[in-house]
Amino acid sequence: MAVQKPFRPRIPAGLAYALHAVLATNRFYRWLAAYVERRPRLYRWFTAGERAAKERLFGCRMCGQCALPATGYACPMTCPKQLRNGPCGGVSADGSCEVDRTLRCVWLTAWDRAESAARGSDLDLLQRPVDNRQWSRSSWVNYWQGRDETIAVAYSGADPHPPMRTAPAPADRAPADRHRAER
Ligand code: SF4
Repeated sequence: MAVQKPFRPRIPAGLAYALHAVLATNRFYRWLAAYVERRPRLYRWFTAGERAAKERLFGCRMCGQCALPATGYACPMTCPKQLRNGPCGGVSADGSCEVDRTLRCVWLTAWDRAESAARGSDLDLLQRPVDNRQWSRSSWVNYWQGRDETIAVAYSGADPHPPMRTAPAPADRAPADRHRAER
């Protein structure tokens, strides 16, 4: 499989946010999403149209759970590591990507674009892992159906990956436990 390359969006951030406002969920879009989803052929055409538009404008990979509104409209799935929360530790001091030094890290692009639209705080949100069942599905339909509502959450400060609970080593066990384990 070809490695993704950081993609520089083809439209300014301000225009992308304005387009999002036009496409914001309302009763009509909710009805449209349900109508399209009930018709498999129409759904395929609709999804193909979404792919054509977003691939050209944002390098969309069709993950089906669009993070663009929270990333300055720079697609995180074009990060070679597909990091949903970036940048990684490999970004260089000049802002280039560790995988391809000729390209700017997509997360720095996201930061520049979000800041230019006074949306820098969006980058503080914690993006949930991608649900791999949604690849090639329409993110517009998912968005209008309200399935994206928890795609990005405010970081509470709690460790999102608490350490796994492991069984105590034999020496740490209470004598009765040790006796049972040794029988
Ligand atoms: S749907 Fe996924 S792959 Fe496509 S632009 Fe949005 S985040 Fe990127």
